Amino acid sequence: MQIQFLGTGDMFSFEQDHNSAMIEHEDTRLIIDFPESNSKVLHKLGIPLSDVRDVFITHLHDDHINGLQQLGYYAQVFGDHKPTLYIHEQLVDPLWHTLEPGMKYTVGGEKALEDYFHLVPLQEGTPFTIGGITYEMTRTEHVPGMISCGLLARGYFYYSGDATMDQDLLLNINQDVKVIFYECHMQDVTISSHTSLGDIQALPESIQRKIRLMHYHDGYANREVRERFNQESLAKLAHPLEVIEL
Ligand SMILES: [Zn+2]
Ligand SMILES: [Zn+2]
Repeated sequence: MQIQFLGTGDMFSFEQDHNSAMIEHEDTRLIIDFPESNSKVLHKLGIPLSDVRDVFITHLHDDHINGLQQLGYYAQVFGDHKPTLYIHEQLVDPLWHTLEPGMKYTVGGEKALEDYFHLVPLQEGTPFTIGGITYEMTRTEHVPGMISCGLLARGYFYYSGDATMDQDLLLNINQDVKVIFYECHMQDVTISSHTSLGDIQALPESIQRKIRLMHYHDGYANREVRERFNQESLAKLAHPLEVIEL
């Protein structure tokens, strides 16, 4: 399995691309979230949007889904298949509410979300499989009342999506994964909907050593600044376009 970050920036990033990762295994490619910055990054990597097949959506904040309209239209016009969206079953209708104003009306008549995407609504506790890898959707705490999800591939990785710290979950799955991708805002100010560096540093050292931090602010967009941090920290900042082999 190969994991490559398409972006590691937070919602307010101007210098970085928004947080998203691409998991390639055998002949499959799963992309976690689809911000608008993905299309340019994939273009640079030589991957046409029409080659995107599988997308997992963590939650509906704009910086995680605002590339879906372009992806859906591109597949319609230039592709030979609909991209598949793996998404919490209770997020399907809310996702369409965000996309509907720009995607419902077409010269070919009125469209629904299913006309653009093959939908796989996920139930909590029911794993799904892509390319022989079993994925489990986890529920995370991000914003009260909002459904937000992480992704667990036992034997490989855990990906938090946007989340506050869930130490119990990490203690539970630590033995089952080689690497933990966890969001961290890296700000000095308190942001109660996200994880702070202090939250990360409060974890057992064995867990901190497995952690790659993502969804951080532009103060760490510079490679030298990141490397300076990484030399001094057990948990390392993920690099944009960094390839991680598992
Ligand atoms: Zn975000
Ligand atoms: Zn968010």
